[in-house]
Amino acid sequence: METLPPFRLAPYFRTRPWGFNDLAPWYNYRTDGEPIGEVWLTGEMCLVDTGPLRGMSLADATKQQRSALLGTGLTGRDFPLLVKILLPKEKLSVQVHPDDALAQHYGEPRGKTECWYALDAQPGAQLALGIRAGVTVDQVKAAVHDASLESLLHMVPVSKGDMIFVDAGTVHALGPGVVMLETQQTSDLTYRMYDYGSARELHLEKAFAAMKLTTRAGKVAPRTVDGHTILIDERYFRIEKWPIGAEAASALAAPAPVVQMLFVTQGRIRIAGDNFEAFEAKRNQLAVIPSSTPRWTLAGDDTSEIIRIVPATD
Ligand SMILES: [Zn+2]
Repeated sequence: METLPPFRLAPYFRTRPWGFNDLAPWYNYRTDGEPIGEVWLTGEMCLVDTGPLRGMSLADATKQQRSALLGTGLTGRDFPLLVKILLPKEKLSVQVHPDDALAQHYGEPRGKTECWYALDAQPGAQLALGIRAGVTVDQVKAAVHDASLESLLHMVPVSKGDMIFVDAGTVHALGPGVVMLETQQTSDLTYRMYDYGSARELHLEKAFAAMKLTTRAGKVAPRTVDGHTILIDERYFRIEKWPIGAEAASALAAPAPVVQMLFVTQGRIRIAGDNFEAFEAKRNQLAVIPSSTPRWTLAGDDTSEIIRIVPATD
């Protein structure tokens, strides 16, 4: 069985009209061109930054090393989860994603269920998560038509450290004042439902087909278990928060049946092992631990903290 060492991925900066020209203090990245709203951490175009696959895109690495990288418990061909940082300076349009069944009806491999972990939130920040209780589909359609949908959206206050589950079918929108770590099924199926009366194209027919008035979306209460916190444990992903001291818990640095991602929220981490060159990941960088990595260790500063993201096996 072929083995693959852990590696760091380089972020990919995506232009978005609602983003920032200067990503400080999150990234040392500045542009005079179109603003950047999304930093893709596991996009197919992200380049491997360390180790033998260095310079290869995540898409090619997944294609060439699929079982050594992902493990055998995942059925999809793509890297299983798309992790991004969202940095909205303006309101994003109101959107909805289809679930697996509807996506497959359209001939796509999967729908898009996602979640947001608030890396930062200003006082008073909120987001739209679903339609207010008691509102009917006809009322939603009428409100889209006369540009008053905002009054029907269920608004949720958000604080730093919150985890928010966005079930497929949930009408949702992010706004300014937050920085989110987004984890989602690898899919680009987004239907824009409402853009505050602007001229941008909407995808109303598909949006209404995907929309569900009631979903399981909402804030998820964290659960603390020995040495770490489970932020969410859902059908597609499990996400945990771990403090990393001079030596990480052996439960964390152990062989796993499936690929895992470590995103650094504080300090820096150092990943080492028998048959590969040790490397570091610092704040806002992401390391990938392939399922076939036999032995590795993880160490941090006194205050290092990571978010560990694990795809659920099919
Ligand atoms: Zn979304």
